[in-house]
Amino acid sequence: MVKHYDTIIIGAGPGGMAAATYASRANLSVLMLDRGIYGGQMNNTADIENYPGFDAVTGMDLAEHMYASSMQFGAEYVFGTVQQLHRSSEQQVWHIQTDMASYTADSVIMATGAAYKKLGVAGEEPYAGRGVSYCAVCDGAFFKNQPVVVIGGGDSAVEEAVYLAGIVDHVTIVHRGGSFTAQQILQQRAFATQNIEIKWYTEVQEIMGDHKQVQQVRLVQNQTGVETLFETKGVFIYVGMLPVSDIVADLGVTDDYGWIVTDAEMATAQPGLFALGDVRQKHLRQVATAVGDGAIAGQNAYRYNEMLKMQRGG
Ligand code: FAD
Repeated sequence: MVKHYDTIIIGAGPGGMAAATYASRANLSVLMLDRGIYGGQMNNTADIENYPGFDAVTGMDLAEHMYASSMQFGAEYVFGTVQQLHRSSEQQVWHIQTDMASYTADSVIMATGAAYKKLGVAGEEPYAGRGVSYCAVCDGAFFKNQPVVVIGGGDSAVEEAVYLAGIVDHVTIVHRGGSFTAQQILQQRAFATQNIEIKWYTEVQEIMGDHKQVQQVRLVQNQTGVETLFETKGVFIYVGMLPVSDIVADLGVTDDYGWIVTDAEMATAQPGLFALGDVRQKHLRQVATAVGDGAIAGQNAYRYNEMLKMQRGG
């Protein structure tokens, strides 16, 4: 039998967990689905220093705290990759299909976040997991006492370069521009770290190896065109994010780039479909903003469900 919930939250990152707390505390029956462990991108984050209430906390610790909060009012958490999502307008019900089960819900909250963008150069795919990484927290320890390259110039690249500098021998940040876009405090830390070197106006053209492990990257200075080979066994790529919104691609709720468009109440153009956090079209993608969105989405799922009940005469 297909199980029905008042609201189903797709994604158990910080935003999804905040929505679960609010919606279940408002007495809705809540199911939170995730294809992996709760915590989302926080699991790939070494230290979080900008979440109110904590001086500094590891991403995994913060995930544990949030998970405990999200489950305290009766929400359920189930593993499953959501593959399909559609609404029956006659029944005013959402149908959710995972790789393991089917569910229905009066409202759905998309909390599917964002994923790493690939650099798109030769060698990136074959050497993924053999020296190419998108997660310093997960893979940094493999390169203890070795030199590594970090590619990018935003918050994640600079923050993770500083983290890696504490583990590895030497970090070279390769950035195609002449200045970082990362927050000032992160930049200052990188500039003050002795074993971080920065190659400005430089791009990685190819990642090369011996079929087992990365051995070199081919760099080009984009102002002079001069190419060099750089010896390294580790390449950490942080060149931006893409929305994880494929399951709503045909629902008319995304912009040209796949980010979900909502109003200030986290409502999308579809009745009973809310979205929050990194998957939304917005400027600041952080834990605190995902959590704020989650509070609004959870509360508005409750309001929507109440309205539906009244319409149904219940
Ligand atoms: P996410 O955390 O992306 O979670 C989305 C969840 O949805 C995932 O668990 C995923 O498995 C699940 N999911 C996706 N699709 C499906 C599907 N089809 N079916 C089931 N489940 C699905 N923020 C800060 O505030 N401070 C920092 O210091 C900081 N550092 C960072 C460092 C790095 C390296 C990275 C990558 C991010 C960092 N961030 C930081 C950003 C922060 O982690 C994100 O903004 C935040 O996690 C977004 O939360 P979210 O709930 O929107 O989505």
